[in-house]
Amino acid sequence: MPGSGCSAHDGEHHNHAILGASAHCVATHPSDMAVALAAFDAVISYETVDGPGETPLADFYLPVGDTPHRETALPPGALITGITLPPAPVAAHSRYRKVRERASYAFAIGSIAAALDVKDGVVRDVRLAYGAVASRPWRARAAEAALTGGPATATAFAAAADAELAAAEPLSDNGYKVPLLRNLTVALLSELTEATEGAAR
Ligand SMILES: Cc1cc2nc3c(=O)[nH]c(=O)nc-3n(C[C@H](O)[C@H](O)[C@H](O)COP(=O)(O)OP(=O)(O)OC[C@H]3O[C@@H](n4cnc5c(N)ncnc54)[C@H](O)[C@@H]3O)c2cc1C
Repeated sequence: MPGSGCSAHDGEHHNHAILGASAHCVATHPSDMAVALAAFDAVISYETVDGPGETPLADFYLPVGDTPHRETALPPGALITGITLPPAPVAAHSRYRKVRERASYAFAIGSIAAALDVKDGVVRDVRLAYGAVASRPWRARAAEAALTGGPATATAFAAAADAELAAAEPLSDNGYKVPLLRNLTVALLSELTEATEGAAR
């Protein structure tokens, strides 16, 4: 109920948010697919009685703030009719990695959608989004900015993750997500670097 507080703050929250949470809610967004859609600038199309509309996915999922009962910016009564992914050559080398506590039927405790374009050891383009860290898919724009035009090395990947996760505010039982996301970032970008440079050889 809006305004009633969040009992997970001092209760069970080991799989709850470390980024973008508020005193009203520390829940995490459940979807895997939306994390990948966030990385690739998906656009949500919908119909209302007043006609069609569209919203970038970046604006579709609302920050939790003091309105945790409002998850999306979809207008009342609107029906989602499509999702568009703009062309993104960087997606030629992309992966999704999900960490979960059991082998199937389990939400992520941390996930990452990544795409990387590397030429001669330099990052030409990169997309990164994190899952299971916030009330919405988390586009890692600070990490992307830190990486673009720089070296494709494990050290640079770790520094980029640190730039993104500097804003993290873990609770008492979910601090493990910070090194988890850092390690996922380094591992996945290192794999994509090898795949990209290997394909060019
Ligand atoms: C135990 C469990 C584990 C899960 N694990 C995962 C997981 O690991 N990864 C993962 O990605 N997902 C997972 N899911 C699925 C995922 O969490 C939800 O199915 C998904 O987030 C959709 O939510 P829903 O099924 O509750 O809502 P839905 O009933 O599908 O829809 C939510 C709301 O959207 C409205 N709605 C539906 N269609 C439209 C439309 N076209 N336009 C406008 N409004 C619409 C509905 O009226 C409703 O109000 C899991 C689900 C469960 C139950």
